This record gives sequence, C-alpha cells and structure tokens, in this order.
Amino acid sequence: MTTERETRVLIIGSGPAGYTAAVYASRAMLKPILVQGLEPGGQLTTTTDVENWPGDATVQGPDLMVRMEGHAREMGAEVITDIITDLDLSKRPFTAKGDSGTVYKADAVILATGARAKWLGLPSEEAFKGFGVSACATCDGFFYRGQEIVVVGGGNTAVEEALFLTNFASKVTLIHRRDELRAEMVLQKRLFDHPKIETLWFHQLEEVVGEDSPKGVTGVRAKNVKTGEITEIPAKGVFIAIGHAPASELVKDQLETHHGGYVKVEPGTTRTSVPGVFAAGDLTDHVYRQAVTSAGMGCMAALDAERFLAEAGDAPEVEGHAKDETLPLGYGAPETEGVQ
Ligand code: FAD
Ligand code: NAP
Repeated sequence: MTTERETRVLIIGSGPAGYTAAVYASRAMLKPILVQGLEPGGQLTTTTDVENWPGDATVQGPDLMVRMEGHAREMGAEVITDIITDLDLSKRPFTAKGDSGTVYKADAVILATGARAKWLGLPSEEAFKGFGVSACATCDGFFYRGQEIVVVGGGNTAVEEALFLTNFASKVTLIHRRDELRAEMVLQKRLFDHPKIETLWFHQLEEVVGEDSPKGVTGVRAKNVKTGEITEIPAKGVFIAIGHAPASELVKDQLETHHGGYVKVEPGTTRTSVPGVFAAGDLTDHVYRQAVTSAGMGCMAALDAERFLAEAGDAPEVEGHAKDETLPLGYGAPETEGVQ
C-alpha cells in the first residue's frame, strides 16, 4: 500500500545544506520533512579531520554530521531514511516518490542533493570498483594496511586522501595530470613533506591492472601526457579523487541548470527556475563547494521557502502572530520583490 505524506517543506538531502535548512524551517514552524538519501550526512561522512568548520579547530566529518542531524531533529524536523526516486515539479503541491513507496506532497521543496564522486570512465576502473578501486579513502583505506596505493587527482580531496592513506599504506603515489595542484597550500605542504608520498606529475591513469581469482588490483599503468611513455606502478588500492559532479538527475529536465548540471539559482538567492523550489549547497555551487557555504545556502533556502509560503498564503499559523508576521526579523516584508 502506498503511504502519502504531506508537508509544507520537503528537504531532499542530508548534508550540511539539508540539515541547516531543516533547522531553520523547523524554527519557522514549517514542520519540514527531510529525506536523507543513500548517504545520510552527505560527503563529510567520507572524510576524517575537518579543519575549517568555524568553532571547531578539528572535528571528525562523520561526528559533525551526526550532531547536525541531532540538531535538526531537536528543532522539530522529521528525518526520514528514504531515497527520492522521482520528483514532479510541474504543479503545486509538488510530488516526490520515495524508494520506500511513500509519496511526499509538498508546498515547497528544498533541493540539497549535493554532489557525487566523478570517475575516469575507464573499463578497467569499472571492472575493479569495489575490488581495489574506490573513491573513498575513509571508507576503504583500512583494507590496504602495509600495501602500496595510488591516488589520482590534484585537488583538496586527492591530497587529503593521499595523506590519510599514509596511515595504512607502505607507500602512496599521487598521479596528477599537470605539475601543479589545486589543493590548499597547507595541504600541499603536508603532502610534499610526507616521506611515504611520491608525486607523479604529468601522468594520466591509463589502466588499472589486476587479476580475476581472487579478484583484485595488482597495479596501474600511467601514461605521461607529454611523451606518451607508460609507467607501471604496483598497487593494491587505487583511489580516484578527481572531483565531484552535482547530483541533479532528479531535476535536470525540470529546472534550469548550468556549468555541467549545477542547478541555476537567481543570484543572491536559492530560488530556482520553478517558484517554490529552492536549491542549496554543492548541487548549485560550482565555485566554493564547502561545508560552511553549503550550510549557509541551506539557511537561505529555508528563509526563501518560508517567504514563498507566506506570499503564497500558506504560511503556518503561529499562536499570537498573524500570517504575515512569520518572517524572521530583518528579512524584509513578504510583498517586497527581489530581496538581496
Ligand atoms: P552533500 O554533503 O553532498 O550531501 C548530499 C545529500 O543528498 C546526501 O545526504 C545524499 O544522501 C542526499 N541525496 C542525494 N540524492 C538524493 C535523493 N535522490 N533522495 C534523497 N537524498 C538524496 N568541505 C569543507 O568545508 N571542509 C572539508 O574539510 C571538506 N572535506 C571534504 C572531504 C571529502 C573527501 C569530500 C568529498 C568533500 C569535502 N568537503 C569539505 C566538501 C563538503 O563535504 C561539501 O561541500 C558539502 O558536504 C556539501 O554539502 P551538501 O549539503 O550540499 O551536500
Ligand atoms: P576539484 O577541486 O574539482 O579537483 C579535481 C582534481 O582532479 C583536479 O586537480 C583535476 O585536475 C583532477 N581531474 C579532474 N578530472 C580529471 C580527469 N579526467 N583525469 C585526471 N585528473 C582529473 O575536486 P575535489 O578535490 O574533489 O574538491 C571538490 C570541492 O570540495 C572543492 O571545492 C574543494 O575545495 C572541496 N573540498 C574541500 C576540502 C577542505 O576544505 N579541506 C577537502 C576536500 C574537498 P586539474 O587540476 O588539472 O583540473
């Protein structure tokens, strides 16, 4: 039997953007439902030390996300373990179908589905996924104790993964297609100073090499992008860390997107091309892609949704307040066009 749930605000995604939106929407008495998706807590659950979350010089990513979930629940958000498989934004109330069979009807939707790891697209990478090829060092690093490991990429993720993997590996080789990293300088310094890490510049992964029984990786073939020369590197683990792509599959045919799938929002707001649908976090941000900026956008999305519902006439009745008084102080009058 299909269960139907109605809510003023449906939040899709449980990263920093989703949980922050849930805190703000709950405090606005909108009784939001938040659907967590396949990765409760989002990308930060795949890392260890987070050193740039204000207020914590170091915090473990998974711990931070558990705290955010607790905060959202405590404020009154209903957090549901489900995955949205289909979303109809053609009319209000919007309809979302969950993998569980539940159908969610919502007056406003906040999209916070974030981003997912990119892959190189090599057949050998695909063949050994889960058998030595991974995109998450925190999840899989432990399997390679005392082994040699290869990491591909040159951004913050690749450098952090390489550093983290030194906790297990006998040697880590970072393969990068240029001779300059994108990673923050503080991370680069740690990488270059680390005795277990070697960097192979101007190389692309050509092939993951392995065996079938037992199935596993034995090494990689890396190609020099200038000379075409192949270098063979023994490795038991290969970590692909070449960036993330926005998780916009649910909405790519219904909302305007840009820069390769990022959901487009009106500058300075979280309003998408469909009124009543708001987007926050890595799903809409091809520039900053940080936990703190995602959380900030989650806050904006909840405030934008609250304002939208007030204008649409379906703001919550709060004891002692008239409907048009439900906006937070300083956010502007409901009828004002183009806040920000
Ligand atoms: P995400 O964290 O990507 O969460 C997306 C959420 O959407 C997930 O919960 C997922 O389950 C859900 N979802 C997706 N599709 C569906 C669906 N169909 N139905 C329901 N739910 C769905 N940033 C920092 O500021 N500091 C760091 O130290 C840092 N370290 C990082 C380390 C790694 C390894 C990685 C990968 C990223 C790191 N980042 C860091 C970046 C940071 O994690 C992201 O910017 C941030 O998590 C984005 O938050 P978000 O809420 O937009 O989305
Ligand atoms: P990223 O910054 O986009 O970097 C991706 C890296 O992979 C780049 O070095 C890129 O090379 C390389 N690359 C891309 N496609 C490739 C391909 N097909 N073959 C070989 N190499 C390829 O991605 P990210 O490192 O995952 O970071 C994503 C976001 O999360 C960033 O905004 C980052 O700041 C944030 N983040 C922050 C932290 C932190 O604050 N500590 C930690 C992790 C992530 P080129 O350089 O040549 O383009």
